Amino acid sequence: MSATFLGIPPFPEAARAAVDDSRLRHNLRKATHTIRDKRGAVVTELEEDWERLRSEGAAIKSHTLRHLDHYLEQLESSVERAGGHVHWAADAAEANAIVTRLVQATGETDVVKVKSMATQEIELNNALAEAGITAYETDLAELIVQLGDDLPSHILVPAIHLGRSQIREIFLDQMAEWGVAAPEGLTDDPRALAEAARVHLRERFLRTRTAISGANFAVADSGTLVVLESEGNGRMCLTLPETLISVVGIEKIVPTWADLEVFMQTLPRSSTGERMNPYTSTWTGVTPGDGPQEFHLVLLDNGRTDVLADTVGRQALRCIRCSACLNTCPVYERTGGHAYGSVYPGPIGAILTPQLRGMSSEVDEALPYASSLCGACYEVCPVAIDIPEVLVHLREEVAAGPGHLGEKAMMKGAEAVLGSSHALNAAQHAAGAARNLVPRHLPGMAGAWTDTRDLPDVPAESFRQWWNKHEKGQS
Ligand code: SF4
Repeated sequence: MSATFLGIPPFPEAARAAVDDSRLRHNLRKATHTIRDKRGAVVTELEEDWERLRSEGAAIKSHTLRHLDHYLEQLESSVERAGGHVHWAADAAEANAIVTRLVQATGETDVVKVKSMATQEIELNNALAEAGITAYETDLAELIVQLGDDLPSHILVPAIHLGRSQIREIFLDQMAEWGVAAPEGLTDDPRALAEAARVHLRERFLRTRTAISGANFAVADSGTLVVLESEGNGRMCLTLPETLISVVGIEKIVPTWADLEVFMQTLPRSSTGERMNPYTSTWTGVTPGDGPQEFHLVLLDNGRTDVLADTVGRQALRCIRCSACLNTCPVYERTGGHAYGSVYPGPIGAILTPQLRGMSSEVDEALPYASSLCGACYEVCPVAIDIPEVLVHLREEVAAGPGHLGEKAMMKGAEAVLGSSHALNAAQHAAGAARNLVPRHLPGMAGAWTDTRDLPDVPAESFRQWWNKHEKGQS
C-alpha cells in the first residue's frame, strides 16, 4: 500500500509545521533554486520567441478544451483504429476498477509504472494492492517515495524534500523488501545512488509483463500518446511489457501531431531547464511484433468536466504539469508539497485541487489562500495560466460559502462605513480622537494579523480633513 494524503491538516496548520523544519527548507531551497536558474537561462535564450510559444501553447490548449467533446471522440476512434481499446472513467473509483480488471485479465500480479500524476490522483497503487496486485514505481524519485512509504511533494521531483543521505538510508533499509537489495557500502554519492536504483529496476523491467503509464499528451487525429521523461525508465516500461494500460486525464488532448511542436520546446525548458528532454516516447495503438501487443487507454474525468464548466477556473486544465510555478513560488519554497494535502502542490495545486475535489472540506477551502498572490507563477507558466486570477476567483467562492461568519460580519460593517461618506467621516474622526487608545496587538480573531505585523499608526487627521484645511479653495 502507498501512503495517502488523508488526515493532513488544512494548509495553514500543515505549513506551520513544515516551515519549522530547517532541513526541509534547506533541501527545498537548494533544489528549487537550481531548477529555477536553469529554466531562466534556457528561456531567456529564446528571447521574444518564448512569449510567442507561450501564447500559442495557451491557444492550442484553450481551443482543445472548448471543443473537448469533439476531440475526445476523435481520439477514441483513432486509438481503436490503431488496435487499442478505449475505456471511459467518470471518477477515481471507476478508473481504478477498470485498471484492476484489465491487469487481472492478464493473469499478472506485478505491474511496472511510468511516473503518472493521473494514477497518483486516483490512488491507483492502493486500489491495485487491495486486489493483490503490486505496482512498482520506476521513476527514481517515485521509487524513493514508494520505498520510504512517503508522499510525493513535487509534480516533477516527488522526493524533492529529501536529501541524499536520507535517500541512502531508504535504499539500504527498504530495497531488499521490494527486489534487488542496495549494495553493501552504498554511499550517498548521487552516482552510487542512481546506480543502485538502476540495478534494482533493471531486474524488474525484464521480469514484468504489464505496465501502467500516464501520458503528457494524447494526439486526437492519430491516436498517439506521448510521454516525456529523463531517465529511460519510461521507455523500458513502454516497450518491454506485453500489455500497456495508460490512464490519461481528458484534458491531455492536443488536436494534431503538429501541435506538439510548441510543447516540445516549452515543456522541457519549463520543467527541467533543458532545451529538449532526454526521452520522448510515442505510441499509437499496437504494432505486431513491436512493443506491447495489447494497449488500453483509460480516459479519466474525475472532476475535470466540472472544472471546464467554470469560465474562470477552467484555464487550470491547460496545465502541462511542468512544475515551473512550484519552483518559483515563495510559499512552496518554504512549505514544500505535503502541506497542500494533495498530489498537486504549489500554485497549480492551490487552484486545481479545490476545483477537482470541490471545496466542501476545510483542507480544500484553505488552498486558494495558500499564496501571496505575488504573480510569479503566472510569469513562468508556459501556457499562461493566470493562477492569481483563479485564486482570487476561488477565494470569492469560499467567502460566499456557508462558513466564515465573523469575516462576513466584518465585511458587512466595512461596507456600511465605506458606502456612506457621513459614516466614513464619523469613523475617521472617531479613529483620530482615539488614536492613543489603539493597542499594538488586536484582540480576538484580528490578533492573528497583528501577531506577525505592526499595526500602522492611526493619523491624527484623515486625508480629507487635511485637504479641507490646507488645499480647499486654493485652486
Ligand atoms: S500551472 Fe503552468 S507553470 Fe504550473 S505546472 Fe502547470 S503549466 Fe507548469
